[in-house]
Amino acid sequence: MAIKIGILGYGNLARGVEAAIKQNNDLQLEAVFTRRDPSAIQIQTAGVSVYSIDDAVKFKDRIDVMIMAGGSATDLPKQTPEFAQYFNVVDSFDTHAHIPEHFHNTDLQSKKANKISIISIGWDPGVFSLMRMISSAVLPEGNHYTFWGKGVSQGHSDAIRRIDGVLDARQYTVPSEESLNKARAGKNIEFTARQMHTRECYVVVKENADKVLIEKQIKEMPDYFADYDTTVHFISQQELNEKHSGLPHGGFVLRTGVTGNHKEYNNVIEYSLKLDSNPAFTGSVLVAYARAAYRLNKEGQSGCKTIFDIAPAYLSSLSEEELRSHLL
Ligand code: NDP
Repeated sequence: MAIKIGILGYGNLARGVEAAIKQNNDLQLEAVFTRRDPSAIQIQTAGVSVYSIDDAVKFKDRIDVMIMAGGSATDLPKQTPEFAQYFNVVDSFDTHAHIPEHFHNTDLQSKKANKISIISIGWDPGVFSLMRMISSAVLPEGNHYTFWGKGVSQGHSDAIRRIDGVLDARQYTVPSEESLNKARAGKNIEFTARQMHTRECYVVVKENADKVLIEKQIKEMPDYFADYDTTVHFISQQELNEKHSGLPHGGFVLRTGVTGNHKEYNNVIEYSLKLDSNPAFTGSVLVAYARAAYRLNKEGQSGCKTIFDIAPAYLSSLSEEELRSHLL
């Protein structure tokens, strides 16, 4: 029988999750939940309904895993621990600085409910975190570097959209080619956040909005913009739709380190992603971890996990034997 998935919140990421479920025969979309009027929301899966978030708890015995598709800035810190009381949950919480607190809050609820939660799943945090962890374990003496983009950061765009007076926004993260090449050359340089990336924001505001104040709020936002050189461009909704509607992204995780008795060997590990659609890819990662959440809970495990805690075989629809014969 297929694993029954719920999606809570219906935005870009939710649409990515919905598409990814269709590529996995062992998963089935059971229901979508929203804070908005459900009748106003069109989803892409025939025969599946959209319900009010207030009705979600009624589905607690019908849904095996709830994928939390809200925004990291204000939705997930509340919604993930709240729904962990009733469901196995998987989220993509990406405010790196607050992950320990989010983990703690969610863990408490999941343990009480005897459910599994897996937080901060996607590509960063997510598979990039795993690559950083594995490569640091393999090359303990060295440096690691993560470069993002050029691409749209949904988390940063979302954070701008939550500012009073902002109607819409796109934020591009742009890597410094010069710093990327220095890292690739294995020079073991320590960069500041500012030397590695710049941030470009395209923002649509309400008529009569205080643009000076909005620009200041963006540039000084802790965790998101304060540590970077940020430029803010105010544009019309039409220009945003025409020139900035795609959500491409990607990036590079590098680890440079030395091996050998005299530390005479240099090594560079590089993992990169080139994504036409960030939410479609992130959705694909989330559904693989939803499968893992279901399996772990079936084994009797509970509590909160991160990507570091999940053995890879739990992600795959292939059996252990098939994995050994085809992919080892
Ligand atoms: P959206 O802004 O599209 O959606 C977030 C929430 O806002 C939805 O759950 C939905 O809730 C609500 N919403 C969506 N569209 C509308 C609308 N038109 N009007 C009013 N409300 C709306 O964000 P994304 O889906 O793009 O991204 C979600 C989060 O995913 C980001 O904040 C980011 O943190 C995370 N992410 C993580 C990644 C990772 O690698 N870990 C990678 C990419 C994203 P409701 O239906 O209840 O109204």
